[in-house]
Amino acid sequence: MMNPTTDTPFASYIQARIDQITERCTQCGKCFEACSMLPYTDLEGAEPSAVTRSVVDIINDRGHAPEGAAWVQACQKSGSCIDACPEDVNPREMILYARVKLQQSAFGREELSQRGRNFFRRLSGIIRATAAIQTPPELYRRLTAVRYRKKAAAQNLFYFGCHILKTPHILLSCMDVFDRMGLDCEVVGGLGHCCGINHFRMSDLEAGAAMGTRSLEEFRSYGSEQVITFCPTCQMQYTEYRPLYSGPGDDELPFVHVTKYLARNLDTLKSLCTAPVNKRIALHLHGGTDGVEENVKAILACVPGLEVVEIDQHKDHGYQCPTLLLPGATEAMREKLLSSARAAEVDSVVTVYHSCHFELCPEEGNHPFELENFMTILGQSMGFDYPDWTKTFKLYGDLDRVLAETGDQLRRHGIDPEKARGPLKVALNG
Ligand code: SF4
Ligand code: SF4
Repeated sequence: MMNPTTDTPFASYIQARIDQITERCTQCGKCFEACSMLPYTDLEGAEPSAVTRSVVDIINDRGHAPEGAAWVQACQKSGSCIDACPEDVNPREMILYARVKLQQSAFGREELSQRGRNFFRRLSGIIRATAAIQTPPELYRRLTAVRYRKKAAAQNLFYFGCHILKTPHILLSCMDVFDRMGLDCEVVGGLGHCCGINHFRMSDLEAGAAMGTRSLEEFRSYGSEQVITFCPTCQMQYTEYRPLYSGPGDDELPFVHVTKYLARNLDTLKSLCTAPVNKRIALHLHGGTDGVEENVKAILACVPGLEVVEIDQHKDHGYQCPTLLLPGATEAMREKLLSSARAAEVDSVVTVYHSCHFELCPEEGNHPFELENFMTILGQSMGFDYPDWTKTFKLYGDLDRVLAETGDQLRRHGIDPEKARGPLKVALNG
């Protein structure tokens, strides 16, 4: 008789990961001790080994103490726990499986699948409308086309994900930088190339993995040597959860974050960054993605005139702004960042990720400094500057004005401005 929990190929991948974690984890509790979210929970002072034992019980469908479930709910994927593990377990991955198990037992698989579909549909509407008010339809179609025909071989594939379409000035700047660097590159992204995260977030790993695998097959068809990513979530999905996408051991196509790619090509960047950018800036940083801080600092050191100052900030709070949702942690991260930047008298706070820029850019209205992305800084030094309509529209704080100014363009996208009002309200006004 089929065992529905392990007898599909996908379920067997998950089970293999859980078995490996269970075998390796000594329940020492070091990952729990390293967790940066504990101050925002009732778990401070809990016995670390008891909490991690509870998490291992959850992933193995055993009865468990409540502390494990509380820790699972608090996890914001910052990854601070990963280096703390002496047994080569990825606690962030362990917690993902525990969350899925808890959600499955609370709501059932069918309900979670429905939630995943609803979430994806709602998000698609938000991304589509936010991109449409900033991007001409021809350009949008070119960026997001799914090409089923034979692909032109390209040495590199730039996979930009989908949320960056809400900040097209960052995407276009990045493409312009690649162009000037002479990168042999095809560009792919948009909602038709989802990495699967939206279903993962709703604990429907199988649907997410199916979606991510379809995109992966499309990426492979370009015959590229590597995929360059921008989004930290896409990077995490196609590295940390890769065994769920393509079967164990199938990792022949490397995914490289844009900061790593640029940091490997500093001489080329230096030769292109010729215009001084006479600014004193602070970087807004998150952990959780390998080497990003060192790499982005090396990249910005190529820009003449730029002074990067160190500020006190909570780098270990989440791996990007929009998914840092634990009450207290979000506010603390922002407060520390913005007050430190103010005290350091910087001209600009510079984000690495488009997702953080989207969240933080309206803070420019409350502080005596700009909010920019590092790609904008590179562009300024290379002699181009794409307007940041995201920030402009957010700073209006007036959706009627946005719709009045962008109505014609929305119609050219085939979108009724009145129907876009709801998604744009969520996107621009939070
Ligand atoms: S990923 Fe971050 S938030 Fe989650 S358990 Fe690890 S340290 Fe804590
Ligand atoms: S995941 Fe690693 S650090 Fe955490 S309890 Fe298990 S062995 Fe210890």
